Amino acid sequence: MRYVAPGYYEYYLKKQFNPCMIGSVTISCDGSVYACRVMRKNDYGNIYITPLDVILTSSGISEYWQLNKDSLEPCKTCHLRYSCDDCRALESSLTGDPVGVYICGRETL
Ligand code: SF4
Repeated sequence: MRYVAPGYYEYYLKKQFNPCMIGSVTISCDGSVYACRVMRKNDYGNIYITPLDVILTSSGISEYWQLNKDSLEPCKTCHLRYSCDDCRALESSLTGDPVGVYICGRETL
């Protein structure tokens, strides 16, 4: 895990949102919409069928944007939580849980 002393903007971004996923989606060439370019198990709709703004407001995809470290069980009491990076795709593939935490270097600091 990478720890960087956050600047003012990054600190408040990480305090409120997932620093990787906030405000982003992936749209494949067939129109499928995903929460992340790596997490392709679940699509949240198709822009050729449903307008993107409807997908963004009704699909639950923005719940990933809210996954800050305060919403992750082992992280919410960690003093590094607003400087620690996060990859939900990697953690999800390692733990099988979209809110799982496997990669953590806190014990080695
Ligand atoms: S518990 Fe580990 S992964 Fe979570 S914020 Fe702290 S250092 Fe980062």
